[in-house]
Amino acid sequence: MDCSRCLSPVPDVAHFCHRCGLDLVPGDTRGQRRFALAPDEPVASFALISSIMPREAGRHPQTYRTAFTITLVVALVAAIFGAMPIAVLVAAFAIPIVYITYLYDVNLWEDEPLAVTGFAFALTGLLAALFTVLWTPLLPLTSTLRSPDGGLLAGPQWVPFLIVAVLVPVVGEVIRQLGPVVLASRPAFDDLMDGVTFGVVSGVAYACFDTLVRHWALLTGGMVAPQPAQFASLVFLEGFVKPLVMGTATGLAVAEFSGLGRGYDGFTARYFGAVGLAMGANILFNTGTYLLGYVGTESLALVLQVLWGLLVLAVLILRLRVVLQTGLLEGALEAAAKADHATDADLGFCARCELPLLPGSAFCSACGVATRTWARQPAAAVAVVAEAMAAPPPDEAGSAPPVEDTTEVVADARDRGAEE
Ligand SMILES: [Zn+2]
Ligand SMILES: [Zn+2]
Repeated sequence: MDCSRCLSPVPDVAHFCHRCGLDLVPGDTRGQRRFALAPDEPVASFALISSIMPREAGRHPQTYRTAFTITLVVALVAAIFGAMPIAVLVAAFAIPIVYITYLYDVNLWEDEPLAVTGFAFALTGLLAALFTVLWTPLLPLTSTLRSPDGGLLAGPQWVPFLIVAVLVPVVGEVIRQLGPVVLASRPAFDDLMDGVTFGVVSGVAYACFDTLVRHWALLTGGMVAPQPAQFASLVFLEGFVKPLVMGTATGLAVAEFSGLGRGYDGFTARYFGAVGLAMGANILFNTGTYLLGYVGTESLALVLQVLWGLLVLAVLILRLRVVLQTGLLEGALEAAAKADHATDADLGFCARCELPLLPGSAFCSACGVATRTWARQPAAAVAVVAEAMAAPPPDEAGSAPPVEDTTEVVADARDRGAEE
């Protein structure tokens, strides 16, 4: 039979079109579109890992979920017991370290680790630290955020508000765009997924150094009398919500710079629109956290700030998932229409469900996962994997067996490939 959307010939037993990703058995989706990076999740979902780690979503998301949970718990426990230097350090570095581990895991830097980390992380971090050192002395901000000015002022003031909620988000976003745009304009990294990833790295780098500078007093102040609710919310807001808001917003903008298909789109109207949206999201985030700092009691203010941050983050994640889904499906449809055989390399087997892939697959015809987002492996590794998996495939086409074995084989093969 032929796919009803891209007209490619597909086998009768296929669940998904391997060229354009169309669900050929639409009855069992319960009315929700499947996310092509993780077909067991709908597009409209708040699943964090498959959104900000697009190249790893189909393989072992649980590792990263566990890493995020452990670091969050460590930071919260440290904050609850008043060990603020530890809490601030963990909050500042947890997400950047997990994310850089992810970059290493998927070999995103194409054997140029120093240059890529330099541009994506260190450049943004350095500029963020300089900028934050410049603007923080202008304000009576306290490092605990109890109320934004530590009770010095009765309510919000125009000058601090304009600095915190307008100047810092706007200049900050410009800083966050520099490194990723330089990287995304190189041919090795002109893919939409790479654009998103570099944007997220840059966003979490900015948040890391912003946290370090703004909470320098807590970081160097030693143990303090425990104020569990306030410090825990502070760590959660500064260490986890803030980097993810900055990361997803910047990732969305860089995605428009990269655009669909080969090559990058560059400084188009769509890109500047997306940068405007990223600035807008940060303006909303900072406006909310600044104004809510003056509401009610300190604990109530912090709870409201966290809820506000999560709301902004939720909207950004939904938007990012739609952009990724559209990018994957439209990019594949375009390639199928042009009979573009860029993906015709024999991929062997699906890394997610282990069933064989059809030649030229952009999607697995059994589970629907997008194949072009998988970690880059040396050619030798692919050959070894294919050999290792020549064993008989699982009996039932519909079942998705665990992927641990595949992952290990891939890791082994990658090591072997690297040694050669
Ligand atoms: Zn199709
Ligand atoms: Zn599959």
